[in-house]
Amino acid sequence: MQLGNYLGALRNWVIGQHECDGLYGIVDLHALTVAEQPGVVGQATVELAAIFFAVGLDPEIATVFVQSHVPEHTQLSWIMECNVSYGELSRMTQFKDKTAKREGSFISAGLFSYPALMAADILLYDADEVPVGDDQRQHVEITRDIALRFNSRFGETFVIPKAVMPKAGARVMDLQDPTSKMSKTAATDAGLINMLDDPAAILKKFKRAVTDSENEVRFDRVTKPGISNLLEIHAAATGRTPEAVAADYTQYGALKVATGEAVIELLRPIQTRYAELISDPGELASLLRTGSQKARTIASATLSRVYDHIGLLRA
Ligand code: AMP
Repeated sequence: MQLGNYLGALRNWVIGQHECDGLYGIVDLHALTVAEQPGVVGQATVELAAIFFAVGLDPEIATVFVQSHVPEHTQLSWIMECNVSYGELSRMTQFKDKTAKREGSFISAGLFSYPALMAADILLYDADEVPVGDDQRQHVEITRDIALRFNSRFGETFVIPKAVMPKAGARVMDLQDPTSKMSKTAATDAGLINMLDDPAAILKKFKRAVTDSENEVRFDRVTKPGISNLLEIHAAATGRTPEAVAADYTQYGALKVATGEAVIELLRPIQTRYAELISDPGELASLLRTGSQKARTIASATLSRVYDHIGLLRA
């Protein structure tokens, strides 16, 4: 996770947990659509869970859980597969794009049926809103189609969900290329602030941030992308507006250092909590157990309703 993920998304999730009954699933089973070495997905799951709790998702308020800890996901996924057609799955643009890129390599059947598992992820919880970016809208659409088809075949069972735009946070650009979004897939690490970077590394990256050849601190994304990015990051980190921050500085150097320091202070408590959690696997496991128990209570009731409406012989 990098600074853009935090200021653009994670921070809003933490606010959002107080506004709705939010479920935050770490979808480790989806990660298996591409082959990984043994242990890699489990380790990534632990690290992501520690980040979620460290930024402030509260296990008493939000439901934070790991997909593979709630077996109802895979159980409902099979039912979903039997209620979606081969043709519908074949039309998913993400499947077409991904397979085109991997021509000649191993393409799992899981990559093809992934939307059925995602439909299960959503429908198990009677979710009415699914905050997703553009790349996932088609998967929410197919989830609606499956739910409507199931309801008409077997009677009212599922809530029909809708895709909603996540509330936008700050847009964080690469410090070396301020016209591109900060991203973990950037060519170099120099313009990328990882949430777990130490203070010295953060300050160094900000000191080296690309600016422009003028000497005026002014917020203007078009003509001054580098300075504007620093102002926006500084503002997001300190709860002010970029214009107000701009009024405090005349020197680029001072703005760079102050922005670096604001980010260090913003991330400090998160990094401290992360370090505590990652060195205490028992505590982390217990927080995730709380989440999976809450998730299972809802998911098992939905699966039971599904089996009943289909008319499966109960054990
Ligand atoms: P990704 O890691 O690209 O899948 O993004 C996960 C979430 O973080 C999405 O909601 C993105 O919009 C958000 N995000 C990622 N990078 C940035 C960035 N540089 N600025 C703002 N938001 C971002």
